[in-house]
Amino acid sequence: MLKNYQGEIIESLKYSILFGPVAVTLTLLIEEYKPSAIFILVDTNTSTYCLPQLLQNIPRLKHALILEIKEGEQHKNISTTTLIWEFLMKYKADRSSLLLNVGGGVLTDMGAFAASTFKRGISFIQIPTTLLSQVDASVGGKTGIDFHGEKNMIGTFTQPKAVLIDSVFLKTLMPRELVSGAAELIKHGLISDAVFFESLANSSSNWLKTEFPAWVIQKSIALKNQVVLKDPFEKNIRKILNFGHTIGHALETWSLKHDENPLRHGEAIGIGMICEAYLSMLKAGLSVVELERINSFLFSLYGSKSIEAANFHTLYDLMKNDKKNELGQINFSLLKKTGLAWINYSCSQEEIFAALKFYNKNFVF
Ligand code: NAD
Repeated sequence: MLKNYQGEIIESLKYSILFGPVAVTLTLLIEEYKPSAIFILVDTNTSTYCLPQLLQNIPRLKHALILEIKEGEQHKNISTTTLIWEFLMKYKADRSSLLLNVGGGVLTDMGAFAASTFKRGISFIQIPTTLLSQVDASVGGKTGIDFHGEKNMIGTFTQPKAVLIDSVFLKTLMPRELVSGAAELIKHGLISDAVFFESLANSSSNWLKTEFPAWVIQKSIALKNQVVLKDPFEKNIRKILNFGHTIGHALETWSLKHDENPLRHGEAIGIGMICEAYLSMLKAGLSVVELERINSFLFSLYGSKSIEAANFHTLYDLMKNDKKNELGQINFSLLKKTGLAWINYSCSQEEIFAALKFYNKNFVF
């Protein structure tokens, strides 16, 4: 908990989420923690677009040890994690060392996982540089990697020392990454704040094209944080954050294996939310009017391609591996209404296929 910081702060589970120029927040944190050594993890893009911001403005990083890994979800695996562990070992990281994870959700999830397991845990700070990782991935303590091609199969719940949010990093993001990241903040509105959802839906053409408004990022983090504080280890209510993810993760996994230009995480979750809004109408009380509102807004952002009926069974098999399942049932977090979600709805294969078909109907003119 930083004593001298004058900027915006959200307090989470024994750590702070600090908003403002990273040169200021990180300098203060380093002065407070006095780490024995500083390690920086970047990927091929953040090494070009984000690392200079840190090295040029923070003198204390002059002696930091830097590891660059390949960008992309296909590298969020045990081989890359091994490289991180080897790097920490080679340069003798100890329990007083600090790892800075500078990147999108792939890097912050994996860097946090490597730090949480190395020597039974060293300290790390999350410096998220994509919209998706700022509004979602770097908050809440979930660390992890994909395993045998399936999403986030191996991981821990470990909290960082701090999360630093600086909107300057978003300036170099590809437009596609901004739209992808928006999926998770729209989700935060859908599951817990109808007014926030409506304001996003009514103004997306503004906030996706101009400089990204800081209040949207802050609001989205605050909404996620409220849920995480109630249930840090996802025993119950935190599962509402998985709205859109049961079908979304299956689509993302399938696409990573088969598509030349795979779906981004948020794009898959956007389609997953359309399908799961349909399941919400079938099982949880969402009205048809609300379903249509959600469908038309999300489809305008994430309706890139239809889901081939020939793949329904494979997708269903992938959903059977979802971490929320219990006793062989596929469990969903669904919307009772816009702004209110609930957990543990089990849906049949027939219902799930109907939801995939509902999304596909958007392509019939
Ligand atoms: P990503 O990390 O792959 O980043 C997207 C792309 O943007 C990459 O090519 C990256 O190199 C590049 N990039 C990053 N910062 C940049 C910058 N400032 N300028 C230019 N390019 C930049 O993807 P993502 O969408 O950030 O994260 C997706 C991952 O997050 C998934 O693996 C997902 O499972 C995970 N996730 C985790 C949680 C959690 O709670 N831990 C929540 C949601 C998502």
